[in-house]
Parts: sequence; C-alpha cells; structure tokens
Amino acid sequence: MQPQYKRILLKLSGESLAGKEGHGIDFDTVMKICGPIKACSLMGVQIGIVVGGGNFWRGRSSGKMDRTRADHMGMLATAINALGVADALEQLGVQVRVQTAITMQQIAEPYIRNRAVRHLEKGRVVVFGCGTGNPFFSTDTAAALRAAEIDADVILKATMVDGVYDSDPKTNPNAKKYETLSFTEVLDKNLKVMDSTAASMCRDNHIPICVFSIEDPENIERAVCGEHIGTIVK
Ligand code: UDP
Repeated sequence: MQPQYKRILLKLSGESLAGKEGHGIDFDTVMKICGPIKACSLMGVQIGIVVGGGNFWRGRSSGKMDRTRADHMGMLATAINALGVADALEQLGVQVRVQTAITMQQIAEPYIRNRAVRHLEKGRVVVFGCGTGNPFFSTDTAAALRAAEIDADVILKATMVDGVYDSDPKTNPNAKKYETLSFTEVLDKNLKVMDSTAASMCRDNHIPICVFSIEDPENIERAVCGEHIGTIVK
C-alpha cells in the first residue's frame, strides 16, 4: 500500500480511547489504534494527532458549572489522553512529542508551530493536547486549526460511526450514509459530523476530512492510502 498523503492530522475522539467501558482510557484499545499509526509513520507519513477528552469530561455537559471552568477541565482531560497515546506509541518504538496549547512545561512541550513542524519533518509523531487552549471550542476545531497551521493534506477523523449519515444510524435503521459531502452541505443541513466552527475553518482553508470508524483501527492505514472509507467532506 502506498500512502496518498505526506502529512496528516489524525483526530482521535476521547471515546475512541475508552474501549468497552465507555469512559477512561483502555490501554488495549489505545495500543490497537497505535499499531496502524506506527505503520503509517514507517511508510513515511508525517503525523500530527489531536486528541479529544470526552472519555473523561465534556465542558458542555457540565450542568450548573461555569462553562469556562468546565472547559478548562475538558482541556485537561485531553492532556491526559495525549500522554496516554504518546506512551502507547513509545511502547511501540515510535518517536513522539506531546505539545499542549496550555503551558504545562513539566509535563509536555508548549505548542510552538515551527517546533511541531520540525518534529514532523524528523519523523516524530506530534500529539497535540489541550485543544485550542480556549474555552467554548472543541477538539474538532483544534484539529482544523492545527491542520491549517502545520499545512496538513487532510484531517482523518476517527470516530465511533463509519461515516456521516443523514440521520442518526443508531436510532434510524433507514439512515443513509453519504460517500462524499461538501462543507457547505454539512453546514446547511446541520449534519453532526463536527461543529460549525470546525467545518467553516476547514472549508475556508480547503482542508478535506475523511470521517471513518476507528472500530477497525486498520482503517487509519486504509484512509492514509486513499481507500474510500467512511465519508469524505471537502
Ligand atoms: N475543550 C475546550 N477547548 C478546546 C478543545 C476542548 O474547552 O479547544 C474542552 C471542552 O470542554 C470539551 C472537552 O475539552 O468538551 C473535550 O473535548 P471534545 O468534547 O472536543 O472531545 P471529544 O468529543 O473529541 O472526545
């Protein structure tokens, strides 16, 4: 298999790291995801990863809490995931650096765009934690932002569903899966593939997104090699 992209931004939702429990980190699951990431790295693909935090905490579902503080907690959750993913990759012998949008220098490098690009050029996987560093944003928006900054060819959005549907496939057995979509359609139809901030950022910066299921982690390699899996939004 030949990679189709030189530099990718992989978005891993927090949920994808949780395994069957549905919360926290399941290291067997993380290791299964990291195998194909290593394979892509060995193919010479430069890989940045933005991790979500929903397996620990989501600011928007925090009840009466002050939203900003709740989002701070969410960003810290993404930092925990970033460290977990980095450790799993290191266990597989992959060179990794973690950079966080909120400075925590004892734990990780601060996010510095040029330094991130340098790591990528050297073949190191860079895991980006703390989302954008700002409350009221999502890690999908962080993925769009980092992809634009590092000049990634594509965002690979690994999720728990195998693409984008016209309605929720879990509740509607007749839900139809889209093969391809435009960002304008995503925004107009209010499709739940990503929030509107992330979608408009990708549209404005011409960054395509491949949305696919991580239940089979080999899908990461398939997507990198240009196989049409899931839904392509461009
Ligand atoms: N978050 C934030 N700013 C960001 C990214 C994330 O405040 O730029 C917080 C927010 O509270 C969010 C949580 O971190 O709910 C976890 O991120 P997200 O919900 O995007 O994770 P995922 O659903 O991908 O696991």
